[in-house]
Parts: sequence; C-alpha cells; structure tokens
Amino acid sequence: MSDLIPVRVQCPYCWEMLDTTVDPSLSEAEYVEDCQVCCQPIVFVVVVDENLVPAVTVRPEND
Ligand SMILES: [Zn+2]
Repeated sequence: MSDLIPVRVQCPYCWEMLDTTVDPSLSEAEYVEDCQVCCQPIVFVVVVDENLVPAVTVRPEND
C-alpha cells in the first residue's frame, strides 16, 4: 500500500492549475477525470519511474 503522490497539472481546456493525486503503485496508468474548474474530461497519462516519481501528462479527450 503506497501513499498517493500530489501532483499539479494544467487543464488543457481552461488552463487552470489543478491539484490532484496519483497512485505510484501503478507504473503506468491512463484515466479520464473531469476538470475541477470547467468540468471537461481530461485524459491523464501517468508514468512512475523507479524512484516513484510520477510524470503526468494531460490532454483533451478528443485530441
Ligand atoms: Zn478546465
């Protein structure tokens, strides 16, 4: 059981900075979460390296 890691991403629709968390026990994950500000679906792509440092990229769902 590992702790969630807080990350900050920028919404690809409204460009607001969003605080969220990722699960470092998954080495790779892709999921959709609605923006907390504009409620549009953001695709999160999370890759966790061997030091458990997550790299998060976001893109619009219909890109
Ligand atoms: Zn947004």
